[in-house]
Amino acid sequence: MRHRFPPDHYANGILTGDRLTLSRAITLVESTRADDQQLAQQVLEQVLPKTGKSIRIGITGVPGVGKSTFIEAFGTYLTGLGHQLAVLAVDPTSQRSGGSLLGDKTRMETLSMNLNAYIRPSPAGDSLGGVGHRTRETMLLCEAAGFDVILIETVGVGQSETVVHGMVDFFLLLMLAGAGDELQGMKRGIMELADALLITKADGDNRAAASRARVEYQNALHLFPPTGSGWFPPVLTGSALTGEGVADLWQILQQHQQLTMQNGHRLQRRQEQQLTWFRSLLRQRLEGQFYNQPGMRERLTILEAQVRAGTLLPGPAVQTLLATSPATDRSQ
Ligand code: GDP
Repeated sequence: MRHRFPPDHYANGILTGDRLTLSRAITLVESTRADDQQLAQQVLEQVLPKTGKSIRIGITGVPGVGKSTFIEAFGTYLTGLGHQLAVLAVDPTSQRSGGSLLGDKTRMETLSMNLNAYIRPSPAGDSLGGVGHRTRETMLLCEAAGFDVILIETVGVGQSETVVHGMVDFFLLLMLAGAGDELQGMKRGIMELADALLITKADGDNRAAASRARVEYQNALHLFPPTGSGWFPPVLTGSALTGEGVADLWQILQQHQQLTMQNGHRLQRRQEQQLTWFRSLLRQRLEGQFYNQPGMRERLTILEAQVRAGTLLPGPAVQTLLATSPATDRSQ
Protein backbone atom coordinates (compact mmCIF):
# COMPACT_ATOMS: atom_id res chain seq x y z
CA MET A 1 0.00 0.00 0.00
CA ARG A 2 1.52 3.25 -1.14
CA HIS A 3 1.47 6.27 1.16
CA ARG A 4 -0.37 9.32 -0.02
CA PHE A 5 0.32 12.72 1.47
CA PRO A 6 -1.47 16.07 1.23
CA PRO A 7 -0.53 18.16 -1.86
CA ASP A 8 1.59 20.58 0.24
CA HIS A 9 3.86 17.77 1.29
CA TYR A 10 4.72 16.93 -2.32
CA ALA A 11 4.95 20.57 -3.42
CA ASN A 12 7.26 21.56 -0.55
CA GLY A 13 9.48 18.54 -1.07
CA ILE A 14 9.76 19.19 -4.77
CA LEU A 15 10.54 22.88 -4.31
CA THR A 16 13.38 22.03 -1.93
CA GLY A 17 14.74 19.60 -4.51
CA ASP A 18 14.02 16.43 -2.56
CA ARG A 19 14.46 13.55 -5.02
CA LEU A 20 12.34 11.04 -3.17
CA THR A 21 9.34 13.36 -3.05
CA LEU A 22 9.87 14.27 -6.71
CA SER A 23 9.86 10.59 -7.65
CA ARG A 24 6.70 10.00 -5.62
CA ALA A 25 4.96 12.93 -7.28
CA ILE A 26 5.94 11.61 -10.71
CA THR A 27 4.46 8.26 -9.74
CA LEU A 28 1.20 10.08 -9.02
CA VAL A 29 1.36 11.80 -12.41
CA GLU A 30 1.83 8.42 -14.07
CA SER A 31 -0.92 6.70 -12.14
CA THR A 32 -4.18 5.97 -13.89
CA ARG A 33 -6.17 6.07 -10.63
CA ALA A 34 -8.56 8.99 -10.48
CA ASP A 35 -7.61 9.96 -6.89
CA ASP A 36 -3.89 9.90 -7.74
CA GLN A 37 -4.55 12.01 -10.80
CA GLN A 38 -6.49 14.54 -8.79
CA LEU A 39 -3.71 14.78 -6.22
CA ALA A 40 -1.14 15.12 -9.00
CA GLN A 41 -3.05 18.04 -10.48
CA GLN A 42 -3.16 19.78 -7.10
CA VAL A 43 0.60 19.35 -6.70
CA LEU A 44 1.20 20.65 -10.21
CA GLU A 45 -0.92 23.71 -9.57
CA GLN A 46 1.07 24.50 -6.46
CA VAL A 47 4.45 24.26 -8.13
CA LEU A 48 3.42 25.85 -11.43
CA PRO A 49 4.95 29.29 -10.65
CA LYS A 50 8.35 27.63 -10.32
CA THR A 51 8.21 25.89 -13.69
CA GLY A 52 9.23 26.95 -17.18
CA LYS A 53 12.76 28.10 -16.42
CA SER A 54 14.70 25.21 -17.93
CA ILE A 55 16.05 24.60 -21.39
CA ARG A 56 13.92 21.80 -22.78
CA ILE A 57 15.73 19.58 -25.24
CA GLY A 58 14.34 16.64 -27.21
CA ILE A 59 16.67 13.94 -28.54
CA THR A 60 15.64 11.28 -31.02
CA GLY A 61 17.23 8.72 -33.30
CA VAL A 62 16.86 5.06 -34.17
CA PRO A 63 17.90 2.37 -31.67
CA GLY A 64 21.67 1.92 -31.77
CA VAL A 65 22.43 5.41 -33.06
CA GLY A 66 24.07 6.20 -29.74
CA LYS A 67 21.46 8.19 -27.83
CA SER A 68 22.16 6.93 -24.33
CA THR A 69 25.93 7.00 -24.81
CA PHE A 70 25.79 10.56 -26.08
CA ILE A 71 23.47 11.66 -23.30
CA GLU A 72 25.96 10.24 -20.81
CA ALA A 73 28.75 12.33 -22.30
CA PHE A 74 26.66 15.44 -22.79
CA GLY A 75 25.01 15.14 -19.37
CA THR A 76 28.33 14.65 -17.60
CA TYR A 77 29.66 17.74 -19.39
CA LEU A 78 26.64 19.81 -18.37
CA THR A 79 26.74 18.78 -14.73
CA GLY A 80 30.45 19.62 -14.81
CA LEU A 81 29.44 23.14 -15.78
CA GLY A 82 27.21 23.25 -12.72
CA HIS A 83 23.88 22.46 -14.36
CA GLN A 84 21.20 20.26 -12.88
CA LEU A 85 20.01 17.81 -15.50
CA ALA A 86 16.88 15.70 -15.73
CA VAL A 87 16.66 13.00 -18.40
CA LEU A 88 13.19 11.69 -19.25
CA ALA A 89 12.93 8.77 -21.63
CA VAL A 90 9.74 8.39 -23.63
CA ASP A 91 9.43 4.90 -25.02
CA PRO A 92 6.39 4.29 -27.17
CA THR A 93 7.19 0.60 -27.47
CA SER A 94 7.53 -0.37 -23.84
CA GLN A 95 3.91 -1.39 -23.40
CA ARG A 96 2.80 -2.49 -26.82
CA SER A 97 5.49 -5.08 -27.40
CA GLY A 98 6.17 -5.96 -23.80
CA GLY A 99 9.81 -5.18 -24.55
CA SER A 100 11.39 -1.79 -24.61
CA LEU A 101 13.67 -0.03 -27.03
CA LEU A 102 14.91 2.40 -24.43
CA GLY A 103 14.61 0.75 -21.08
CA ASP A 104 15.81 -2.83 -21.19
CA LYS A 105 19.53 -2.44 -20.93
CA THR A 106 21.34 -0.77 -18.11
CA ARG A 107 21.63 2.69 -19.46
CA MET A 108 23.57 5.77 -18.55
CA GLU A 109 25.44 4.14 -15.69
CA THR A 110 27.74 7.09 -15.01
CA LEU A 111 25.00 9.66 -15.20
CA SER A 112 22.68 7.68 -12.96
CA MET A 113 25.32 7.90 -10.20
CA ASN A 114 25.72 11.65 -10.72
CA LEU A 115 24.17 13.69 -7.92
CA ASN A 116 23.35 16.53 -10.30
CA ALA A 117 21.46 14.33 -12.71
CA TYR A 118 18.09 12.65 -12.43
CA ILE A 119 17.03 9.93 -14.87
CA ARG A 120 13.47 8.78 -15.19
CA PRO A 121 11.83 6.63 -17.85
CA SER A 122 8.35 7.76 -18.84
CA PRO A 123 6.43 4.52 -19.20
CA ALA A 124 4.14 4.17 -22.17
CA GLY A 125 0.47 4.18 -21.32
CA ASP A 126 -2.36 2.95 -23.45
CA SER A 127 -1.92 5.81 -25.90
CA LEU A 128 0.86 7.96 -27.22
CA GLY A 129 -1.22 10.99 -26.29
CA GLY A 130 -1.14 9.72 -22.71
CA VAL A 131 2.63 9.47 -22.83
CA GLY A 132 2.78 13.06 -23.95
CA HIS A 133 0.66 14.38 -21.11
CA ARG A 134 2.51 12.47 -18.43
CA THR A 135 5.90 13.46 -19.76
CA ARG A 136 4.91 17.12 -19.89
CA GLU A 137 3.71 17.01 -16.32
CA THR A 138 6.85 15.16 -15.23
CA MET A 139 8.93 17.82 -16.97
CA LEU A 140 7.13 20.56 -15.02
CA LEU A 141 7.76 18.76 -11.73
CA CYS A 142 11.45 18.43 -12.58
CA GLU A 143 11.65 22.13 -13.40
CA ALA A 144 10.05 22.99 -10.08
CA ALA A 145 12.63 20.77 -8.37
CA GLY A 146 15.38 22.98 -9.79
CA PHE A 147 16.54 21.11 -12.87
CA ASP A 148 17.60 23.74 -15.39
CA VAL A 149 18.22 21.42 -18.34
CA ILE A 150 15.64 18.80 -19.29
CA LEU A 151 16.51 16.18 -21.88
CA ILE A 152 13.62 14.19 -23.27
CA GLU A 153 14.79 11.15 -25.18
CA THR A 154 12.72 9.08 -27.56
CA VAL A 155 13.22 6.53 -30.28
CA GLY A 156 12.35 7.61 -33.79
CA VAL A 157 9.45 5.21 -33.97
CA GLY A 158 5.91 6.04 -34.99
CA GLN A 159 4.73 9.39 -33.74
CA SER A 160 6.75 9.64 -30.56
CA GLU A 161 9.17 12.16 -32.02
CA THR A 162 6.30 14.44 -32.96
CA VAL A 163 4.95 14.19 -29.44
CA VAL A 164 8.34 15.05 -27.95
CA HIS A 165 8.90 17.85 -30.46
CA GLY A 166 5.65 19.28 -29.17
CA MET A 167 7.04 19.80 -25.68
CA VAL A 168 10.61 21.04 -26.15
CA ASP A 169 12.43 24.22 -27.14
CA PHE A 170 15.06 22.43 -29.17
CA PHE A 171 14.82 19.16 -31.03
CA LEU A 172 18.00 17.22 -31.81
CA LEU A 173 18.13 14.39 -34.30
CA LEU A 174 20.98 11.88 -33.99
CA MET A 175 21.99 10.10 -37.18
CA LEU A 176 24.52 7.49 -38.29
CA ALA A 177 26.89 8.13 -41.16
CA GLY A 178 26.59 5.79 -44.08
CA ALA A 179 23.34 4.08 -43.14
CA GLY A 180 20.86 5.24 -45.77
CA ASP A 181 17.88 7.31 -44.73
CA GLU A 182 15.56 4.30 -45.09
CA LEU A 183 17.73 2.25 -42.76
CA GLN A 184 17.49 4.96 -40.18
CA GLY A 185 13.73 4.93 -40.50
CA MET A 186 13.98 8.59 -41.28
CA LYS A 187 11.16 10.27 -42.98
CA ARG A 188 11.73 13.71 -44.37
CA GLY A 189 9.23 14.87 -41.77
CA ILE A 190 11.53 14.14 -38.84
CA MET A 191 14.37 16.07 -40.41
CA GLU A 192 12.06 18.99 -40.83
CA LEU A 193 11.36 18.97 -37.11
CA ALA A 194 15.03 19.07 -36.16
CA ASP A 195 16.74 22.19 -34.80
CA ALA A 196 20.07 20.42 -35.23
CA LEU A 197 21.42 17.14 -36.57
CA LEU A 198 24.28 15.29 -34.96
CA ILE A 199 26.14 12.53 -36.80
CA THR A 200 27.16 10.09 -34.09
CA LYS A 201 30.20 7.82 -33.68
CA ALA A 202 32.48 10.20 -35.58
CA ASP A 203 35.62 8.43 -34.41
CA GLY A 204 38.16 5.90 -35.69
CA ASP A 205 37.40 4.45 -39.10
CA ASN A 206 34.06 6.19 -39.13
CA ARG A 207 35.52 9.70 -38.90
CA ALA A 208 35.74 10.44 -42.63
CA ALA A 209 32.29 9.03 -43.39
CA ALA A 210 30.86 11.20 -40.62
CA SER A 211 32.39 14.34 -42.12
CA ARG A 212 30.98 13.47 -45.54
CA ALA A 213 27.57 12.81 -44.07
CA ARG A 214 27.71 16.15 -42.33
CA VAL A 215 28.18 17.98 -45.62
CA GLU A 216 25.46 15.93 -47.32
CA TYR A 217 22.91 16.57 -44.60
CA GLN A 218 23.79 20.23 -44.38
CA ASN A 219 23.13 20.51 -48.12
CA ALA A 220 19.88 18.60 -47.77
CA LEU A 221 18.73 20.89 -44.97
CA HIS A 222 19.36 23.95 -47.13
CA LEU A 223 16.59 22.74 -49.40
CA PHE A 224 14.03 22.83 -46.61
CA PRO A 225 11.86 25.86 -46.16
CA PRO A 226 13.14 28.32 -43.51
CA THR A 227 11.86 27.65 -40.01
CA GLY A 228 10.29 31.01 -39.32
CA SER A 229 12.32 31.54 -36.16
CA GLY A 230 15.35 32.78 -38.09
CA TRP A 231 17.26 29.65 -37.04
CA PHE A 232 19.14 27.54 -39.56
CA PRO A 233 19.57 23.98 -38.22
CA PRO A 234 23.27 23.10 -38.14
CA VAL A 235 24.74 19.63 -38.65
CA LEU A 236 27.42 18.49 -36.19
CA THR A 237 29.60 15.47 -35.89
CA GLY A 238 30.03 13.94 -32.49
CA SER A 239 31.59 11.10 -30.61
CA ALA A 240 30.88 9.96 -27.12
CA LEU A 241 34.30 8.30 -27.10
CA THR A 242 36.38 11.37 -27.92
CA GLY A 243 33.93 13.93 -26.60
CA GLU A 244 33.73 15.65 -29.99
CA GLY A 245 30.56 17.63 -30.50
CA VAL A 246 29.60 17.78 -26.83
CA ALA A 247 30.76 21.33 -26.13
CA ASP A 248 29.74 22.41 -29.66
CA LEU A 249 26.22 21.21 -29.08
CA TRP A 250 25.94 23.13 -25.84
CA GLN A 251 27.17 26.27 -27.59
CA ILE A 252 24.62 25.79 -30.36
CA LEU A 253 21.86 25.30 -27.82
CA GLN A 254 22.78 28.54 -26.15
CA GLN A 255 22.85 30.40 -29.46
CA HIS A 256 19.43 29.02 -30.30
CA GLN A 257 18.14 29.99 -26.89
CA GLN A 258 19.50 33.50 -27.19
CA LEU A 259 18.06 34.01 -30.68
CA THR A 260 14.62 32.63 -29.93
CA MET A 261 14.30 34.44 -26.63
CA GLN A 262 15.24 37.71 -28.25
CA ASN A 263 12.92 37.39 -31.22
CA GLY A 264 10.04 36.02 -29.15
CA HIS A 265 9.96 32.71 -30.92
CA ARG A 266 10.61 30.60 -27.83
CA LEU A 267 7.70 32.15 -25.99
CA GLN A 268 5.50 31.70 -29.03
CA ARG A 269 6.57 28.05 -29.40
CA ARG A 270 5.80 27.36 -25.74
CA GLN A 271 2.45 29.11 -25.93
CA GLU A 272 1.45 27.07 -28.95
CA GLN A 273 2.59 23.90 -27.20
CA GLN A 274 0.40 24.73 -24.21
CA LEU A 275 -2.57 25.23 -26.46
CA THR A 276 -1.92 22.00 -28.35
CA TRP A 277 -1.61 20.19 -25.03
CA PHE A 278 -4.95 21.58 -23.89
CA ARG A 279 -6.67 20.64 -27.13
CA SER A 280 -5.28 17.14 -27.19
CA LEU A 281 -6.26 16.58 -23.55
CA LEU A 282 -9.75 17.85 -24.28
CA ARG A 283 -10.04 15.58 -27.31
CA GLN A 284 -8.87 12.61 -25.27
CA ARG A 285 -11.30 13.27 -22.43
CA LEU A 286 -14.21 13.79 -24.82
CA GLU A 287 -13.44 10.60 -26.66
CA GLY A 288 -13.13 8.74 -23.38
CA GLN A 289 -16.48 10.06 -22.18
CA PHE A 290 -18.13 9.23 -25.44
CA TYR A 291 -16.87 5.67 -25.75
CA ASN A 292 -17.41 4.89 -22.07
CA GLN A 293 -21.15 5.57 -22.22
CA PRO A 294 -23.34 2.63 -21.20
CA GLY A 295 -24.36 0.51 -24.16
CA MET A 296 -21.89 2.23 -26.48
CA ARG A 297 -19.94 -0.90 -27.29
CA GLU A 298 -23.08 -2.79 -28.29
CA ARG A 299 -24.39 0.04 -30.46
CA LEU A 300 -21.00 0.38 -32.13
CA THR A 301 -20.84 -3.34 -32.84
CA ILE A 302 -24.22 -3.30 -34.58
CA LEU A 303 -23.47 -0.20 -36.62
CA GLU A 304 -20.00 -1.39 -37.59
CA ALA A 305 -21.45 -4.68 -38.83
CA GLN A 306 -23.89 -2.76 -41.03
CA VAL A 307 -21.15 -0.47 -42.34
CA ARG A 308 -18.91 -3.43 -43.07
CA ALA A 309 -21.72 -5.21 -44.95
CA GLY A 310 -22.38 -2.08 -46.97
CA THR A 311 -25.99 -1.79 -45.86
CA LEU A 312 -25.30 1.48 -44.06
CA LEU A 313 -23.05 4.33 -45.15
CA PRO A 314 -20.52 5.70 -42.62
CA GLY A 315 -22.18 9.15 -42.70
CA PRO A 316 -25.64 8.02 -41.55
CA ALA A 317 -24.03 5.54 -39.14
CA VAL A 318 -22.21 8.37 -37.36
CA GLN A 319 -25.41 10.40 -37.40
CA THR A 320 -27.34 7.57 -35.76
CA LEU A 321 -24.67 7.04 -33.14
CA LEU A 322 -24.53 10.70 -32.18
CA ALA A 323 -28.32 11.02 -32.13
CA THR A 324 -28.69 8.10 -29.73
CA SER A 325 -25.84 9.10 -27.40
CA PRO A 326 -26.94 10.93 -24.25
CA ALA A 327 -23.60 12.81 -24.16
CA THR A 328 -24.33 14.50 -27.43
CA ASP A 329 -28.13 14.64 -27.29
CA ARG A 330 -28.86 18.24 -26.39
CA SER A 331 -32.61 17.71 -25.97
CA GLN A 332 -32.01 15.86 -22.70
P1 GDP B 1 20.84 4.01 -28.40
O1 GDP B 1 20.08 2.74 -28.65
O2 GDP B 1 20.55 5.03 -29.45
O3 GDP B 1 20.68 4.54 -27.01
O4 GDP B 1 22.38 3.65 -28.60
P2 GDP B 1 23.51 3.33 -27.52
O5 GDP B 1 23.92 4.59 -26.84
O6 GDP B 1 23.08 2.21 -26.67
O7 GDP B 1 24.74 2.90 -28.44
C1 GDP B 1 24.65 1.79 -29.33
C2 GDP B 1 26.04 1.22 -29.57
O8 GDP B 1 26.89 2.18 -30.19
C3 GDP B 1 26.76 0.83 -28.28
O9 GDP B 1 27.41 -0.39 -28.50
C4 GDP B 1 27.74 1.93 -28.04
O10 GDP B 1 28.91 1.48 -27.38
C5 GDP B 1 28.07 2.39 -29.46
N1 GDP B 1 28.41 3.83 -29.47
C6 GDP B 1 27.66 4.82 -28.95
N2 GDP B 1 28.25 6.01 -29.12
C7 GDP B 1 29.42 5.77 -29.75
C8 GDP B 1 30.49 6.62 -30.21
O11 GDP B 1 30.50 7.85 -30.07
N3 GDP B 1 31.53 6.00 -30.87
C9 GDP B 1 31.54 4.67 -31.06
N4 GDP B 1 32.60 4.17 -31.73
N5 GDP B 1 30.58 3.84 -30.65
C10 GDP B 1 29.52 4.37 -29.99
